[in-house]
Amino acid sequence: MSAQGWVALVGAGPGDPGLLTVRGKELLERADVVVIDRLGTEHLLPFCRPDATIIDAGKAPGQQALTQDETNQTLVDHARNGLGVVRLKGGDPFVFGRGGEEAMVVHANGIPLEIVPGITSAIAAPGAAGIPVTHRAVATSFTVVTGHEDPTKPGEQTDWNALATTPGTLVILMGMGRLAAISAALVAGGRPADQPASAVQWGTTTRQRHVHATLGTLAARVAAEGLGNPAVVVVGDVVGLAEQIDWRTGRPLHGRSVVVTRARAQASDLARELSLRGAEVIELPVIRISPLAPSPELDEVIDRIASYRVVVVTSVNGVEILMGHLAARGCDARVFDRDALFVAIGPATATRLSEHGIRAGCVPDQFVAEGILRALEGHDLAGVPTLVARARGARTVLIDGLIAQGALVDELELYEAVPEVAEPEQIARAVAADYVTFTASSTVRHFVEMVGVDAVAQFAGRTVSIGPVTSDTMREFGLSVDAQADPHTIPGVIAALQEDATTQAS
Ligand code: SAH
Repeated sequence: MSAQGWVALVGAGPGDPGLLTVRGKELLERADVVVIDRLGTEHLLPFCRPDATIIDAGKAPGQQALTQDETNQTLVDHARNGLGVVRLKGGDPFVFGRGGEEAMVVHANGIPLEIVPGITSAIAAPGAAGIPVTHRAVATSFTVVTGHEDPTKPGEQTDWNALATTPGTLVILMGMGRLAAISAALVAGGRPADQPASAVQWGTTTRQRHVHATLGTLAARVAAEGLGNPAVVVVGDVVGLAEQIDWRTGRPLHGRSVVVTRARAQASDLARELSLRGAEVIELPVIRISPLAPSPELDEVIDRIASYRVVVVTSVNGVEILMGHLAARGCDARVFDRDALFVAIGPATATRLSEHGIRAGCVPDQFVAEGILRALEGHDLAGVPTLVARARGARTVLIDGLIAQGALVDELELYEAVPEVAEPEQIARAVAADYVTFTASSTVRHFVEMVGVDAVAQFAGRTVSIGPVTSDTMREFGLSVDAQADPHTIPGVIAALQEDATTQAS
């Protein structure tokens, strides 16, 4: 009997990955199939299982979107096949997302259904711009309405005349395309033209922008400043409070755009920390970590695993993939020699080892191959069986150095970095950014490959490197190194960038 399938309609929240619910994240981590809309749900893909099937129901460029019927059918079909399906919808699934229709179809087919609410952009986007939708003595209610309907056409369901005189705050979603007509209809219906009004684009995300104006001037200001979709329009006196509540513009990296060039699955730590400091983060995953298929060499190493007295791991990915191979054979950290010395290249790798119950006995001060060699200088490695588990294509310094110290070295290649493909718009944003960060030599190489040598030569922003090896590679590819992290860690990169930004500003 196949497993029981299910469908969950999960609200993805307004755009900041931190604003997904705990329940939503749990279901995403579990789902076999995830059906997304292009707008507003992509940022949650890192939470999905690596082997989950991702189906894009939205409109990808040059690609046909699924019709609503096809989307409904997709949910039903996969669940009928015994799969767990998450239908991710931007904001809250029942606020203008046609979530109700999908839920009805799933339920009518007798498939187990769960609804997980999400934080709607109707409240979150204003809040992120410092606008409370209600406020004591200013607004005791708020009305959320779609601006999708044309106010100049008779027979539409939205009664703009009534909305013009409804007290409280008016929040309009999908209203940017008809902003001038909507504003005019509201003024014609009796809403004062000088009432404060605001448009907040990409609310809660690192690309957030807003225009605070009045009902009479908003459409022109939005056009002048080039604001577009997705945006929430807020009309009401509460907009006037934004000046006193604005919590985003004072942050240390506010107004700086920073490119984060890491492997797709890893981008989040650095990106999150930077955006918490107010930076506009442009994530440009240039590589993807691709585990190598099991091989006879792998089997040989695993058969001998208990014989290694020194085990060197050079990345978090290395730890995960190595432990995964052990787990696939029903083993865990206990298969290692209990006196084996584990060498982790840096603190993040050591932490990941400890999560698997392994204490790193040696973490060098310099998180590079040379640092490992120096850290091991005091140890007598002559004739000692040593395992180096790492990426394909890494430098030979480490292996050569260990052999020179007399160690009997087995090198195990666990994964390789494969190039990612980016959309032209992403690349254009990256090249125009204030900063690019590099956290490994491989990302430098792939970045240059992705954006092209000419674009790199024209890059006018500043660069931050995680350490000397990465810096050398940057120079080799014609990039200047404006700041280098010390220590050579992600927190080090953030500190170096922030210091550089402060110096540049003063
Ligand atoms: N279910 C969603 C709304 C879907 S309709 C929710 O609850 O938020 C799509 C509209 O939502 C967009 O046209 C825009 O008006 C608004 N929207 C979605 N994300 C937004 C964001 N991050 N910032 C501003 N508006 C957003």
